[in-house]
Amino acid sequence: MLSALSLLLVTTALSAVMLFVLASLRHSKLEGIREWGQANAAAVLSLLLFAARGVVPDLLSIELANALFLGSVALMLAGFRRHLGLPVPIKPLVGGMLAVMAGLSFFHFGVDSLPLRSVLVSIFHASVYVAIGRTIMPVQEPRLRYAFLFTRRTAFVLGSVHAARGLFYGLQVGTPIGFLDPAPVNLAFFAVGALALPALTLGAVMMANARVLHDTAYAADHDHLTGAWSRRAFFTFAEHEHARAARKGSSLSLLVFDADNFKRINDTHGHASGDRVLRDIVTHAQEVIRKIDYCGRLGGEEFAVLLPDANGQTALEVAARLRTALDRSLPLGPATLPIAYTVSIGVATLAPDETLAGMMERADAALYAAKADGRNRVVSAPMPPRSSASAQRG
Ligand code: GH3
Ligand code: MG
Ligand code: MG
Repeated sequence: MLSALSLLLVTTALSAVMLFVLASLRHSKLEGIREWGQANAAAVLSLLLFAARGVVPDLLSIELANALFLGSVALMLAGFRRHLGLPVPIKPLVGGMLAVMAGLSFFHFGVDSLPLRSVLVSIFHASVYVAIGRTIMPVQEPRLRYAFLFTRRTAFVLGSVHAARGLFYGLQVGTPIGFLDPAPVNLAFFAVGALALPALTLGAVMMANARVLHDTAYAADHDHLTGAWSRRAFFTFAEHEHARAARKGSSLSLLVFDADNFKRINDTHGHASGDRVLRDIVTHAQEVIRKIDYCGRLGGEEFAVLLPDANGQTALEVAARLRTALDRSLPLGPATLPIAYTVSIGVATLAPDETLAGMMERADAALYAAKADGRNRVVSAPMPPRSSASAQRG
């Protein structure tokens, strides 16, 4: 037979389980885990005190239990805000908790009214759940999307149910009901109230896991110094685009470029300044290329841009823009002279039946020619002789 007490004990156990689930994320170094853990620990204590109504003094099973439960939802909000790098509204949260606690004490020791205590608690919970929902804005990243939406919607549903709960008890002020009253409505609100925390914690764990997956994939796909695509990701895109171009007979071009006399920049200005130049190169390269182009760091001070659907003419135009954009003076600060740098660019456009490696080789050869020719220039690779293009087939 379902009773409020058994519900309480089940949800207490659920909150305890959530603590173990959260513990699985303790090495993730993600913000928010600590607060979510504290929230569930407070909830376990609080629910045990609620369950001990009549066994322990009311001050513990009403005031302390409620204070802990208010604190636990407040900590959930704090965890979500910290997880997302947002400030925690400590003053409103503490102020709200103190106000609710003052009201609870009044409706306990002054006018003893369980419905009015429920109204107060529901208002606080509803506000915090809505605040959680509003904190978790929908995101576009496919790896994060579902976890964010799940948690946001859960928070809004919980907020609505608690608002309805507040309204329900507000309209029943005159009706005396017991705390562990087994009336179905009472039980239903009770269940949702007690399940709120495990549900939100599940959302939090999903968000944290999604973040770990997202960050790991991001680190594998991006060069950590410049933010350009990693060599691995670049070649994955290149193979994909090469297959598409071969299938559809569309154009595909490749620029390979390399910072000129970069060793000298390092030697003159230091390695850290060299790193700043590399970042500057990627920032400005990305301003010149289209959204559908890929800029990757092949290694050291050598980069590549893949241009889907670009024929030789377009590729040369992009290369010319890129060379101009990267003929730059990078200001280092008021006390230091800016670093002037340039790049050399080799351009190749995919020949019919040519392999990706073949196009890559031609772009590299063109880059060497640009270096040999004096640097800070664009050289276009000649199309391969037909025989060698067909020889590369297969
Ligand atoms: P060239 O015009 O022929 O390309 O001459 P270069 O000096 O640029 O070419 P070289 O290959 O001799 O030197 C490349 C230098 O780039 C040497 C290496 O220390 C430096 N380098 C490679 N990776 C990094 C990096 O991540 N940061 C910094 N600061 N320097 C790097
Ligand atoms: Mg170089
Ligand atoms: Mg080089």
